[in-house]
Amino acid sequence: TFDAMVITDAGERKTKAEVTALSLADLPDYPVLVEISHSTVNFKDGLAITGKGRIARRLPMIAGIDLAGTVVESASPDWKPGDKVICNGWGLSETEQGAYAKYQRLKPEWLLPLPEAFTPEQAMAIGTAGYTAALCVQALLDWGKISKEGPDVLVTGAAGGVGSVAIALLGSMGYPVTAVTGRPETHEYLSGLGAKSFLDRAEIAEAGKPLQAERWAGAVDVVGSHTLANVLAQTCYGGAVAACGLAGGADLPATVMPHILRGVALLGVDSVMAPMEKRKAAWKLLADHLDPALLSSVYSVHPFAELPQLAADIIGGKIRGRVVVEI
Ligand code: NAP
Repeated sequence: TFDAMVITDAGERKTKAEVTALSLADLPDYPVLVEISHSTVNFKDGLAITGKGRIARRLPMIAGIDLAGTVVESASPDWKPGDKVICNGWGLSETEQGAYAKYQRLKPEWLLPLPEAFTPEQAMAIGTAGYTAALCVQALLDWGKISKEGPDVLVTGAAGGVGSVAIALLGSMGYPVTAVTGRPETHEYLSGLGAKSFLDRAEIAEAGKPLQAERWAGAVDVVGSHTLANVLAQTCYGGAVAACGLAGGADLPATVMPHILRGVALLGVDSVMAPMEKRKAAWKLLADHLDPALLSSVYSVHPFAELPQLAADIIGGKIRGRVVVEI
């Protein structure tokens, strides 16, 4: 048997997470058996483990949306024992059994080869949050308005997982970044990743005017709500905002003014069902540009036993950057 973090029904429409001993017979009947070496804790994992959000759509459910590991058995011609792989999203920990277990059986089309540039630990230091940051940066690059000469690219939720990797990636590529954080004590860390200027979270957290002074060539937003509305209102003519999160709320109390008067685009970014081509491009962007020294300053490594505390910490906004969990 092996330990897994399993979400079960706690009654009154609540769930609880517990370490549970499982065997291979408990895993789904998918073709590729992977021995998992590393995972991580994303915001969604925090919601699942603490029970603060209903992530699992069926119970019992092994939590964890991200994994790195080695193929042990494969009934698929695409993978063979010994292959190093990563997997994230595809409904893991929602509709499909997830990553917080020593072994998991997975569909071949969900797996990506571990990028050569990264160890399994580094791949999980990036994880869903970092690869989503790369999807956002790629969306801004494709939009074509950000420039190394400025104006700045704004990144909200800067000291969190998506924010940290977005800044490190944009910084490594030479784009000027302004970081929005509610934690002034992280300024030195964020400067080290490449942030040139800072904005206090509170400055853009309240309802603002529909059109404000044009400041940003583009933005990566993980916060949503009034923050996203203000970011749109401050984006320069023809710029774009890549939005991927709701750390501040799922609402969007905005007007159409930035869109119809300045041609500003709101680019929605999803990591879970992103097609393979987009995933490969995002990981290539990270492999080609993310400075390994910057990546190493973004994360810390923790044992499996710390999962409940890490989950509470990410929901409490206490985690700086990213955490890797050894399985
Ligand atoms: P995280 O590490 O917890 O980072 C979130 C950051 O947002 C925090 O560190 C904090 O930054 C800021 N923040 C938290 N609460 C806030 C509030 N009430 N108002 C304003 N700012 C607040 O989480 P993450 O893993 O980076 O994920 C960030 C968001 O992206 C989450 O909503 C997550 O669900 C979403 N996400 C979406 C996808 C997708 O596929 N669309 C993929 C990954 C993540 P500071 O301390 O610096 O202020």
